[in-house]
Amino acid sequence: MFANRTDYETMIDVNKIRSDFPILLRKVYGKPLVYFDNAATTQKPKCVVENIKEMYYTLNANIHRGVHFLSQQATDAHEAARVTTQNFIGAKSSNEIVFTRGTTESINLIASTYCRAFCKPGDEIIVSEMEHHSNIVPWQLQEEISGVKLRVIPINDKGELIIEEFEKLINPRTKLVSIAHISNALGTVNDIEEVIRIAHENNTPVLIDAAQSVQHIPLDVQKLDCDFLVFSAHKAYGPTGMGVLYGKEEWLNKLPPYHGGGEMIASVSFDKTTFNELPYKFEAGTPDYVGSTSMAAGLDYISKIGLENIAQYEHELLEYATEQLLKIDGLKIYGTSKNKASVVSFLVNDIHHYDMGMLLDKMGIAVRTGHHCVEPLMNRLQIDGTVRASFAFYNTKEEIDQLVAGIKRIVTMF
Ligand code: PLP
Repeated sequence: MFANRTDYETMIDVNKIRSDFPILLRKVYGKPLVYFDNAATTQKPKCVVENIKEMYYTLNANIHRGVHFLSQQATDAHEAARVTTQNFIGAKSSNEIVFTRGTTESINLIASTYCRAFCKPGDEIIVSEMEHHSNIVPWQLQEEISGVKLRVIPINDKGELIIEEFEKLINPRTKLVSIAHISNALGTVNDIEEVIRIAHENNTPVLIDAAQSVQHIPLDVQKLDCDFLVFSAHKAYGPTGMGVLYGKEEWLNKLPPYHGGGEMIASVSFDKTTFNELPYKFEAGTPDYVGSTSMAAGLDYISKIGLENIAQYEHELLEYATEQLLKIDGLKIYGTSKNKASVVSFLVNDIHHYDMGMLLDKMGIAVRTGHHCVEPLMNRLQIDGTVRASFAFYNTKEEIDQLVAGIKRIVTMF
């Protein structure tokens, strides 16, 4: 809200964009930083960091409960951030936007409250073989607590969902389908429109894990008709510790509260406590108004550049990287779906992913190595990890050339 917003017209001006990210000027081991770990977290533009500073310098006061000037201004800023988030994902009402600490907390919230309200032992929840641990373990906890059973949509060798298998899995015991929009490890863009269509034909609601998609492609929850959608601010150029749960109002109204405490109540007595209206029913405790407003600054920043422009530019980076990497003898890419986001996971010959990551780091190139919190997917691929380069709209083809040159050097060392 305070930041010096820059005007981006329709095209990606990468130099202009890079000047908004001071960290990209850093040197690592004396080399210019090449940051290819964007699927883990994105870097923050100046407007987000300035928003954090300005909130603390000029607007810090606990919100919602205060009658004084600062508290009211901070409350207004927090609620304006909710509307920004609503508009960013095309939600019908700002009541449908619940602020959480991130994707993980949002999924835990739904797993806990949905199973409590709607599931009995023997009911089933469907996820896929490519899910992040945070879309597996909350449901496994519910297997213990509520007696639900987790069913898993398999993937093919390209890393795509096998939709026919999903059609076979879904049945009257299925109570919810919870699925990633984009795989963090493979980059596969799942056909969530089809998943939602099939699930709804079977009267089953769908949760979309959009942790890897809100920052890459335009999303409209009303068009998608998903029932829940979750994401983290820190992967979308915003602050850490902040996230979103979108839920259709009719569903959120039917769910019981998650955490108990201040904010989420209408009245409290030892005889009977009643709960607040949406979305506050799910927001116990002092809200993170610095987080919400800074997240909104990040979302505004993305909107100014334009998600269509971002998607197109990042796709060019993906195509270029794929083409150049495949020229390296012995390099194998994991995740070869036709529809991919800007993530490339690979291994080269029998060079361990960890060694590759460490040596690239010494060249100033930050990639992620390991199982990427998708151990069941790694088991399916019969590997214990990959090297993952994930691109953002501030990355360049020249940086990809440096990655390719770095890998070639490492190959000659082995
Ligand atoms: N889902 C997906 C697809 C992810 O990629 C991640 C993080 O990498 C998460 C969920 C968890 O996000 P967070 O750790 O921000 O809660």
